[in-house]
Amino acid sequence: MIRTGQQYKDSIRDGRRVWINGERVSDVTTHPQFQPIVDIRARIFDMQHEEAHRDIMTVVQDGERNALGSALPYTQDDWWSKRRATDHLLNDVGGVVTRVGDETVGEMWSLFDGQDVLNEVDPQFSKNIETHIHRVLKEDPFHVSANTDPKGDRSKAPQDQDPDMLLHVVKETDAGIVVRGAKYETAAAYANQAFTKPTIANWGNNALSDYAVGFICDLGSPNLRFICRTGFAGRAPKKDYPLANGFDEVDTIVIFDDVLIPWENVLFYRHTKAASFIRATLHRYSAFAFVQRNLKVADMMIGAALFNARQTGLDKQQAVQEKLAQLAVYREGINAHLTAAIALGERSPAGLMMPNQSLLYTGRVLACSQLHEMMHIARELCGGQICVTPDAASFENPETKPWLDKYYSINDEWVADDRRKLLAFARDLLNSDYAGHRLTFQLFAQSPPFAHLAAVYRNFDWDGPLAFVKEAAGLSDRVMAGRTLTPGDNAISSWFAADTKRAAAE
Ligand SMILES: Cc1cc2nc3c(=O)[nH]c(=O)nc-3n(C[C@H](O)[C@H](O)[C@H](O)COP(=O)(O)OP(=O)(O)OC[C@H]3O[C@@H](n4cnc5c(N)ncnc54)[C@H](O)[C@@H]3O)c2cc1C
Repeated sequence: MIRTGQQYKDSIRDGRRVWINGERVSDVTTHPQFQPIVDIRARIFDMQHEEAHRDIMTVVQDGERNALGSALPYTQDDWWSKRRATDHLLNDVGGVVTRVGDETVGEMWSLFDGQDVLNEVDPQFSKNIETHIHRVLKEDPFHVSANTDPKGDRSKAPQDQDPDMLLHVVKETDAGIVVRGAKYETAAAYANQAFTKPTIANWGNNALSDYAVGFICDLGSPNLRFICRTGFAGRAPKKDYPLANGFDEVDTIVIFDDVLIPWENVLFYRHTKAASFIRATLHRYSAFAFVQRNLKVADMMIGAALFNARQTGLDKQQAVQEKLAQLAVYREGINAHLTAAIALGERSPAGLMMPNQSLLYTGRVLACSQLHEMMHIARELCGGQICVTPDAASFENPETKPWLDKYYSINDEWVADDRRKLLAFARDLLNSDYAGHRLTFQLFAQSPPFAHLAAVYRNFDWDGPLAFVKEAAGLSDRVMAGRTLTPGDNAISSWFAADTKRAAAE
């Protein structure tokens, strides 16, 4: 089923305890720092009902219409549809929003793939994850992700400091487990549920640990508190900061002050093997939607930089063209990784279609690690005027307007008002505090850069290069220490293997 925007808004008016700027928020749907993003989330629910968007953003399964972003992927076509749906919604809202559900829900599919591991721990847990994956389709909650604890002193085990620095179980009851701790979560203050699991941290090497716990947290549960960082919306006029006022996704430290998690929401508990599995595979699916956001950010940078270069005639300069080309290379690098990750998709242990893991994770490193350089190039191309241009109010004040009209009009095509709008957009994309926040978001929000590289290390097929060098350098078999290498390029082999299967099927 698909909810309406109104049903979503009603669902988060549940008496939750939210603070921002030291102020208790009585209603997140109307508070000025939350309202723009809540409205976008509501708009996504509503779009899925509208004829113009329905077929792109939803899928009919067993006679019921569901959100495409929450539907499990079984084929390459499913991934093309997901990619198109995300693009469609970002185009409609006119900006980049990440934590709106389609990006985070895939984390549960990774655990669905780990059913063998869960079965070893307790078969009930693997049933729970399956139930939740289908519940997301049937009930359409806004689902977010909770991994990161405050952690405290990393040189100490959790037991050797304030034990609440990492979220842990403090009690078991007939009804469920009681958890205590805190997690950083984007969007939690206005979402319905969070897949909560251990952070990357020293949560214990023993087979059993109270810190090795994963569950679905109903964000309307008693004893939760949401303490938010200040919002970027509502601080300055929208005309001057159009992105901050439209798309800020408020991050929150969520306090779990002895929160009861019913047994049916517990996905794994105590077994560090299950916790390790989920940490290693967490972004197997969700990285796709995350990396896709970088493609749209690249489009925004290219558009802003090229418009600026064209309106001032600078696009005729070769040096400027080279910088624009660098932005295009970044954009197309991400595009190529996403496209190839679909084309060379892989079957998961649970029979789902995973984007090609090596290409997806290398694409994530490309997208996140180069972003700051690309922002720098775009900033350079937009020039210092994104820094020094007066605000809209000065363009409207009768005493200052004539001067600004004069100095900001370039020709008949580019008059002061459009130039101001473009510079305000570029400032909020590249220069404002919101722009800096977005850069950090892309760097960290789906785990930190070292973890991105660790995912590449785990998923790249090292055999091909080793086999090539072993042969080319004439190395003996001794260097293999008993291991056998599979020679060749994995991508090419996968393509031909899939091609052979297709031919056989036909
Ligand atoms: C805007 C924003 C939104 C976020 N949203 C969410 C969210 O929705 N849900 C969620 O769960 N989390 C979220 N996060 C948290 C994010 O996942 C963490 O910031 C990230 O996992 C890093 O943890 P940390 O901040 O505690 O950094 P630290 O663990 O303190 O690490 C800081 C740096 O230390 C170095 N370092 C630390 N450990 C190692 C290591 N083992 N090996 C090598 N280098 C190391 C690295 O340089 C690392 O970048 C968000 C973060 C940001 C900035």
